[in-house]
Amino acid sequence: MDTVSKYFGSEVFNDTVMRERLPRETYDLLQRTIKNGKHLDLGLANAVAAAMKDWAIEKGATHFTHWFQPMTGITAEKHDSFITPVDGGKVMMEFSGKELIQGEPDASSFPSGGLRATFEARGYTAWDATSYAFIKDGTLCIPTAFCSFGGHALDKKTPLLRSMEALAKQSLRVVKLFGNEDVKRVYTTVGAEQEYFLIDKDVFDKRKDLIYTGRTLFGAKPPKGQELDDHYFGAIKPRVLQFMKELDQELWKLGILSKTEHNEVAPAQHELAPIFTTTNIAADHNQLMMELMQKIAKKHHMVCLLHEKPFAGVNGSGKHNNWSLSTDTGINLLNPGDTPAENAQFLLFLCAVIKAVDEYQDLIRISVASAGNDHRLGANEAPPAIVSIFLGTELTEILQSIEQENPYDGKEKELLRIGVHTLPRFAKDTTDRNRTSPFAFTGNKFEFRMLGSSASISDANVMINTSVAEELRQFADRLENVPDFEAELHELIKETISNHKRIIFNGNGYDDAWIKEAEKRGLLNLRTTPDCLPYLLHEKNVKLFERHNVFSLEELTAQYEVQTENYCKIINIEALTLLNMLNKDILPCASRFVKQLSDAYISKNAVGLALDCTYEKELIKKLSAMTDLIYKKKNELEAKMKQIGGLTDTTEKALFFRDEIFARMTEIRTVVDEFEDRTDSSYWPYPTYGAILFSVK
Ligand code: ADP
Ligand code: MG
Repeated sequence: MDTVSKYFGSEVFNDTVMRERLPRETYDLLQRTIKNGKHLDLGLANAVAAAMKDWAIEKGATHFTHWFQPMTGITAEKHDSFITPVDGGKVMMEFSGKELIQGEPDASSFPSGGLRATFEARGYTAWDATSYAFIKDGTLCIPTAFCSFGGHALDKKTPLLRSMEALAKQSLRVVKLFGNEDVKRVYTTVGAEQEYFLIDKDVFDKRKDLIYTGRTLFGAKPPKGQELDDHYFGAIKPRVLQFMKELDQELWKLGILSKTEHNEVAPAQHELAPIFTTTNIAADHNQLMMELMQKIAKKHHMVCLLHEKPFAGVNGSGKHNNWSLSTDTGINLLNPGDTPAENAQFLLFLCAVIKAVDEYQDLIRISVASAGNDHRLGANEAPPAIVSIFLGTELTEILQSIEQENPYDGKEKELLRIGVHTLPRFAKDTTDRNRTSPFAFTGNKFEFRMLGSSASISDANVMINTSVAEELRQFADRLENVPDFEAELHELIKETISNHKRIIFNGNGYDDAWIKEAEKRGLLNLRTTPDCLPYLLHEKNVKLFERHNVFSLEELTAQYEVQTENYCKIINIEALTLLNMLNKDILPCASRFVKQLSDAYISKNAVGLALDCTYEKELIKKLSAMTDLIYKKKNELEAKMKQIGGLTDTTEKALFFRDEIFARMTEIRTVVDEFEDRTDSSYWPYPTYGAILFSVK
């Protein structure tokens, strides 16, 4: 065996390990419990815990933790050691079934959006047996869901698992309609491509904005940025290569299918793509991937930036959520197939996605909303804030011919009858892979490209899964027990295309003309986070989530509160950082430099040669005027910041942060960046964009 296959998954308590280490009966029982989504009984949990502990201790672990994903979108863990005191001042290593299946972290400080009254502030964590336990830094990590004692979801995993369940249930109904009796379960699969920046730690340490906010709040454009496209897929620098090698090794040990690494468009920007897997594992893996990227970068004296927009003027970072559905018999339901029956099933699932994305475009948009991602969407580097679907010309033409009952291609004599005819083969649209589309069909899956780089992929998948589940439910309701299945199916597909084709757009999403066209089509254009979040609580969305048991109204309200608060908090921190930088560094630097110019002017005059001193005079004037302007705007911002305390309504507060705080920060930045351009570099208090972006040699 080659070395990689030897250590791949070595830190994971996976199926192979379970088979080896659990008594046959225990193993079978556990598998059945997992498959049926039942609670583990304590006897079984004790047996699994004992095997898990022995395995972990052999691998050098001393602690265990319930690893969970609170609504902050990052991961949390609280370590407990295995030790239990015994007589004679000695200890034993213990880990019980109870400790495996349920934990009570004192996690009352995580946001709950009002779901936890203080008297029951503690939530509990419960093992998600569908995701394997693993060892990280000598600690056995048990993937868990995090809930309140009232049973409300306080995390990202619980709704994701619920949405997968909803989709599985409705998909199974549809699959059965096509006679696939052998299928027992339908899964969603996801491959999440991750973008990130790597910069040298020395320059990072000198930028308060990067330290406190993850992005630069100031920075004049460097003479060279990404315009030559020379970084994209370019040769990887040795230091970065070392980092990627180590990252791959660590990911592989954790059973994460890291597959491709390459340079991205912006200088210092890179991407990592794993091979797809089932959605909840893909979500866990993406979190681990982000964590390891940051940790391993530090070992190489670099910092990994996961912010959506660390630098103005160069591309920001996103995440591509490749999404499909597959059966436990190995059929990808978004694969068009070769026979009329396969084609028909594919078209129905395709229509479910089209209808879902059209009817729930608000939710799809909300799922990627954050203060950080607001910098990217619609900024000519990422898809616009308008949600639309790309199908490619061939598939679009096929749908058109079905809708309009025209022969496809004009050559065929017969009209396309779903379930009777075979679809014309359409090539995976390789020439026209439209990178500007937010939601693109790429041959056998959809690629959702609006996600921000730092986001958990859970939100996006909760929205996609639940909305598609709803459409499949409606389809199954209509098609089950009809006398003429094929005729009804044909009608249904025709109708769906006709009613929802407005969401299909194959053109250039970065083009301004699309914005006008989308408006004509009645599509939403929710540009910023405060614009879109209120849609979460619209009646149709509350109904959707309640019907499929993904969120109760209370939980949805909490989601809204937490996300809106989060937006406000981020801009608040950014504004405070910006003020700190102005007060402590930038304005004093401005004075010092003007003083230096003034000193030069005085000295030159003292020489008595009646020199013009144009450079000094003009620059003193210009810079003094700019300094005064920055000072004035800074004072205005400070005054606005004082008003925040008086705002009680979260929605109003978010709008205030956007329109009164963030807008002023942007104005100040413009002046400061011009100031930076005109200032002696030895006076400027921070590493420049050029120094940061080209810091890793
Ligand atoms: P590219 O986008 O570079 O052409 P691919 O299309 O092969 O590369 O894959 C991009 C991502 O999509 C990878 O993470 C891959 O594992 C994932 N992917 C491929 N098939 C599926 C599927 N059926 N479901 C979910 N993700 C998939
Ligand atoms: Mg991609």
